[in-house]
Amino acid sequence: MSFKAEYIWIDGTEPTAKLRSKTKVLTDGGQPGTWGFDGSSTNQAEGHASDRVLVPVFTCPDPIRGGDDILVLCEVENVDGTPHASNTRAVLRPIAEQFAAQEAIFGIEQEYTFFKGYRPLGFPEAGFPAPQGGYYCGVGADEVFGREVVELHLDRCLAAGLAICGINAEVMPGQWEFQIGPVDGLTASDHLWVARYLLYRTAEEFGISATLDAKPVKGDWNGAGAHTNFSTKAMREGYDAIITACESLGADQDKVLEHVGQYGHGIEERLTGLHETAPWNVYSYGVSDRGASVRIPWQVEVDKKGYIEDRRPNANVDPYVVTRLLINTCCSALEK
Ligand code: ADP
Ligand code: MN
Ligand code: MN
Ligand code: MN
Ligand code: MN
Repeated sequence: MSFKAEYIWIDGTEPTAKLRSKTKVLTDGGQPGTWGFDGSSTNQAEGHASDRVLVPVFTCPDPIRGGDDILVLCEVENVDGTPHASNTRAVLRPIAEQFAAQEAIFGIEQEYTFFKGYRPLGFPEAGFPAPQGGYYCGVGADEVFGREVVELHLDRCLAAGLAICGINAEVMPGQWEFQIGPVDGLTASDHLWVARYLLYRTAEEFGISATLDAKPVKGDWNGAGAHTNFSTKAMREGYDAIITACESLGADQDKVLEHVGQYGHGIEERLTGLHETAPWNVYSYGVSDRGASVRIPWQVEVDKKGYIEDRRPNANVDPYVVTRLLINTCCSALEK
């Protein structure tokens, strides 16, 4: 019996990469090996030298096709075996390795917005729905839109074995969140990309699209973020390390801009200082403060150990980038 392997990779689209996938039929007992694709159709090559290489890095059951079928997340390489310029996972690998002894783990809260045509799901044909207030964690057909998609997506993430740990309806109609973690940076990122793939594919079956746009509706509507919760072994054991990590992220303005500059396209539009955000260019941290760049959860202050939440990353952030930046900045400071 043959089976289907869905090869998934991240393309070179600027300013925000997209997911691509194609199917390879394998014969019984076959292993998903390296494969090629036309990089000139994905912003990853010029037409005259278009071949790029897919190198499998993470495989799991395909919960959509079922049976023996699998999903195969890949890194993109050039034909000479070097990582392609768009391959941010390859940049994370050596940093994760360098600081492995600190046992960094992550929980990423992925917010996203469903669209039906050109309108967010739940928005009327013309005008706007009732202002924000009742939608967050809402119940009932007048409060939440798209739950059947969300439930199916959750079931599929679980069936694929992803480290998904929760879901909730968000502040704007049609906006939702799922959380991946807490697991190491590479695993959290791999699982988040596959969960995004499953989200797009699942919504597709309902004629709905899901977007990671950080500010899908301008004006007095919440944006979409990817709050990134982070801890090292030392942070899970004591409060000094929590403060060291918070301080390191605001060490100087160059450090602040290094992070927010790579926290996803359109960060200035979302991090305005309104709608539970801090201004993008002013770093702050605080206990329980949803208006700070970095929040120390109240329980963490009580226990004097735990984790911190970097609230700045946009929904459209590349998890390989945000986990690398947090490991590099915080673990360097904690090593001293
Ligand atoms: P909130 O919406 O209140 O900000 P969520 O419950 O949506 O919080 O998300 C909390 C996240 O924190 C989860 O993804 C979870 O995996 C993560 N998390 C919990 N403990 C740790 C820890 N020690 N280190 C890193 N992440 C953690
Ligand atoms: Mn062809
Ligand atoms: Mn959350
Ligand atoms: Mn949220
Ligand atoms: Mn959060």
